[in-house]
Amino acid sequence: MIEKDKVVLFHYVLKNEQGDVIEDSRTGEPLAYMHGHGGIIPGLEKELEGKDQGDHVDVTLAAQDAYGERQEGMLQRVSAKYLKHAGKKLRPGMQVAVSTDKGNRMVTVVKVGLKTVDIDGNHPLAGLTLSFSVDIVEVRDATDEEKDHGHVHGPGGHKH
Ligand code: ZN
Repeated sequence: MIEKDKVVLFHYVLKNEQGDVIEDSRTGEPLAYMHGHGGIIPGLEKELEGKDQGDHVDVTLAAQDAYGERQEGMLQRVSAKYLKHAGKKLRPGMQVAVSTDKGNRMVTVVKVGLKTVDIDGNHPLAGLTLSFSVDIVEVRDATDEEKDHGHVHGPGGHKH
């Protein structure tokens, strides 16, 4: 049963309010997280509490229980040199990493100028009501090392 410190592996299909599929984990490995450590969005973690291997869970989450509301103050104009886009031409809507003094952060390109780029630091899924269709693949005890680190090792988790 899913409770604090259990390692959970699950597949999910994520849809927006219109029913469009945004992400489908079945194209790869299931997602792995350690329950009770904020490793997945809060509304989903709460919904998975007490469920078990083999269970199917459908849940619709308002923005505040998923990736939060959009914040207007997250729009910024930066020099293009701070953006990491591996030589690809910058286009509106593209997700790129920007280097900040706190490390890399993912942002969305809003507008591309000659030397500057307008970026939006909101999570791309912020402000959206999201539906998750979850299949719980595996529930197991965390190892002592995983508990120490507060995250999962092995398939779907940290590799280090
Ligand atoms: Zn670790």
